[in-house]
Parts: sequence; C-alpha cells; structure tokens
Amino acid sequence: MPELPEVETVRRGLAPVMEGARFARVEARRPDLRRPFPKNFVKRLEGQTVTGLGRRAKYLLADLTSGEVLLMHLGMSGSFRVAAEDGETMPGDFHHERSQDRAHDHVVFHMSSGVRVTFNDPRRFGLMLLVPRALLSDHPLIREVGPEPLGNAFDADLLARACARKNTSLKAALSDQKVVAGLGNIYVCEALHRARLSPKRNARTLATRSGKPTPRAEALVGAIKDVLNEALRAGGSSLRDHRRTNGELGYFQHHFRVYDREGQPCPTPGCGGTVRRIVQNGRSTFYCPRCQK
Ligand SMILES: [Zn+2]
Repeated sequence: MPELPEVETVRRGLAPVMEGARFARVEARRPDLRRPFPKNFVKRLEGQTVTGLGRRAKYLLADLTSGEVLLMHLGMSGSFRVAAEDGETMPGDFHHERSQDRAHDHVVFHMSSGVRVTFNDPRRFGLMLLVPRALLSDHPLIREVGPEPLGNAFDADLLARACARKNTSLKAALSDQKVVAGLGNIYVCEALHRARLSPKRNARTLATRSGKPTPRAEALVGAIKDVLNEALRAGGSSLRDHRRTNGELGYFQHHFRVYDREGQPCPTPGCGGTVRRIVQNGRSTFYCPRCQK
C-alpha cells in the first residue's frame, strides 16, 4: 500500500499537468474500482478545470470549477501515467513495482493541454469519488483522519495526547490513521528505528501520567518528519532517474535502514545489532532489538 511519500510524489508529478487544465474528455472503462464511480462521473468531470491538486492523508484532491472535488486514492496497486508529446512518465516513488499492463488502464483523463493522464490499477482497490468542496471535511473518509505528519500542528504534545490512553504497541499506534495520517508499515518501522524506540513498546509511554510528552515523543515526532522528508526528496529525484531498464520503477531499498532488511547489520553507528523481523497485527515489523528500546 503506498504511503504518504509515494502519494505526495504522485501529486507533485500530476500537479503541473493537471492544475489549470480542463478535462476535455474522460474515459471510465469500467463501472467501478473499489466502489462504483459516482453517478454521471464522466459528465461531472468533462468541461471542468482543475483549480488545484492537493492531498489529505493518502487522498489526492482535485478541486474543480464546479465546486466539487475529485477525490482519488491509489489503493494497493494504483498508479498514474502521464503521456505528453515528449513521452510517458509515471510519477511517484513506489516500493513495489507498478503495473504498466494496458488491460488495467481503468480511467483516462484527456486534458485540454493535450496531456493524457491514465489511472492503472490491477487489483482495483483504488477509489474515485466526487464530493462537494464544502462537505469534504465532513466526508466519512476524511473527517476521522488524524493530523498531517509534516504539518506544524503535528508535534510531541499532540502525539502524546493521542497515545496517552492507548494500550497498544507503538507500531500499532503509529499505523492508526486517526493518530497520524499517511504512515504505513515502511515508514513506521523506519521512524521507530531512528527514534531508537522498540515497535513493541507500549504507546502510553510517550506520555507522562499527566499526559505531557516524554522525550520519547519528541524523538519520535522528529524521526517521523525526517524519514518522510528524506523520502520526499528521494522521490523527487526518482521521477526520471531510477527507472529500471524495463522502464518500471523498482525498489528503493537504499532508502530504508531496517524495512525489508532482516538479518542485515543495524546501520546505527556503533550498534553492532542485527535487524530482526517480527509479526505484529499480521504485518511484518523490522527493527533492531539492540538499539531500539
Ligand atoms: Zn541497532
């Protein structure tokens, strides 16, 4: 499942070709993805200009001149391709390879600029909805989403408050979209390693009895922001440069210090530990038992 940095790099790739452009023609090649497309989906898009392309958590939000917002989610396997006169690109920095099989091209936006934006999604867990802008913050998919990890509002106070009454592991707490938006398995593992906190540690220990943040909460917030910012910087440079010879975007394992590195030496200077894999809530967790306490 793509996480926040992947989605944000997709947004950055699509914004220059979609913002200010009009949907000249839209093809919806099937009736649904994870859910049916909205009623009159094509009609409600065609003729509308995209006034801005934003993001909230892992949702891409295209503001339209009609006052509606086109809400898009990549699901498990979704990706966009951008075809312009000078060739085709796939914006985004994905850990798992994306399909380029044309049989899974489900939605095509023919923009007034001549650019074609194609949504491909083999597993069809993606989502496209139309929501009136004024109702967006109350939409069931949006209203319970926690703070943006790179926003100023996300700090140790907020994280400690969100975790103070949680009787779960740190891994589970950070994976909870109500605690913080957009983190998944990869960046939770990476942030915990940088903060030198065990994924098994109880999330309550981020707060004192009176609910104030402990130094652990400070360290963890800093680590989350660092990990995400580094991934975004790498994603920006990967738009063209890191393609495999077959044209597909491949692994970016060099970004990761522990994720998918079971049995390898811990990269923390002077640690000497070995990265271990355990299973928490049915998902793999990678961490170093020596320096993460
Ligand atoms: Zn270590």
